Amino acid sequence: MKRRNVQRLLAAALVCATLPGCRAPGATPDTHSKSGSQSSGGEPQPSVASAPRRRAGGPVTVRLASFAQASELELLDAQGRKRTARRSGQRIAIDGQAALERFELQAPADGVVGIGTARYSGELAVSVEPDGAWRVEHRVDFEDYVLGVVAKELGFGATPPQAWRAQAIASRSYALAQLEQRSRGNTEPYLFDGVRDQAYGGAPQPRNARERESLAQLRAAVESTRGMVLEHDGAVVDARYHSSCGGRTADGRAVFPELRSSCLSSVECAPCAASREVLWSWTVPAQQLTQLAKKYELGERLVALEPLKLDASRRWIEVELRGERANKTVRYEELRRELGRDKLRNARIVECWPKPGAKLDGGLRLSGAGNGHGAGLCQRGALDYARQGWSAERILGHYYAGAKLADRR
Ligand SMILES: [Zn+2]
Repeated sequence: MKRRNVQRLLAAALVCATLPGCRAPGATPDTHSKSGSQSSGGEPQPSVASAPRRRAGGPVTVRLASFAQASELELLDAQGRKRTARRSGQRIAIDGQAALERFELQAPADGVVGIGTARYSGELAVSVEPDGAWRVEHRVDFEDYVLGVVAKELGFGATPPQAWRAQAIASRSYALAQLEQRSRGNTEPYLFDGVRDQAYGGAPQPRNARERESLAQLRAAVESTRGMVLEHDGAVVDARYHSSCGGRTADGRAVFPELRSSCLSSVECAPCAASREVLWSWTVPAQQLTQLAKKYELGERLVALEPLKLDASRRWIEVELRGERANKTVRYEELRRELGRDKLRNARIVECWPKPGAKLDGGLRLSGAGNGHGAGLCQRGALDYARQGWSAERILGHYYAGAKLADRR
């Protein structure tokens, strides 16, 4: 720990010569001043569970993996000046000067620093991984992180505040559950931006007066849930969520066997069931079928495919791949990863051509309903329920049956 602090101070000394406005590491990052207090949204609150462990407050570290492969980083420093960072081996040059191992940008109070078009409160620490990728660590106030996630996940257009509130509580719960699971010894755990954890683009940047007004409403909605998380059996809920379920959510533990909580059970979702917008269809190119057969050493060709295990919502959980020489059972989520999550949008297959188990002579076409893994809160359904007047508490009670709200500030 001591050695790391010395390294940070040395790095800071190097940086301060190059980037005016940086601060000495170790100080608490400034957080945005927010007003407002807990609001019940006019609904009866679920009972508050006891025995909190990790707090849903203070600073949190987010690894900004979305910048890892950028050729260079366009920076905005605390004084609003644009800088360019380029890497050479393990060294970083700012505007062609100096050769740093690491540098930090500290946002001023109620201000931001930036990379590319994204803006961040708190602190950014940039270094280079041994494999040459950028390592960007963002230290940010937990609630500012939650605000950024909600804005990125749902946007700040004409969204009902109760949908923002439900998303804020689910996102905060998910983040806290990951941090608890990733805590090992003295190492500070971190979250990732992007699909590995939650969408996060830093501080929301409204582009006009209408968006500024909408963002103010979003901020008030998130603030009204400050510190609130879902708990089940005394533990924070690993509150997975997804884009649209297609009419019924997945059995969470069938999709994610590592889930400890049983409250992500399969439930009806009337808004998705009534919508045709959530339907998708995709013809798998013959070349990809051949690649699958080769990857799993099943022979030159994939002969047939059949789901072996379905969950309560009839989502495909395990699939048998039959090749010319051998067969292999794989998890459907693995198949999605191999073939493209943007193509196989989810596991709720409503039509398979040819029929499961039949010969794939003419190719393979899969049709489904929904988008995403299907476990926990359905964002499309939550939006619709909020428009119908449901409170965030009722929405969360629907998708995380049996969970309670807890204050983890
Ligand atoms: Zn749904």
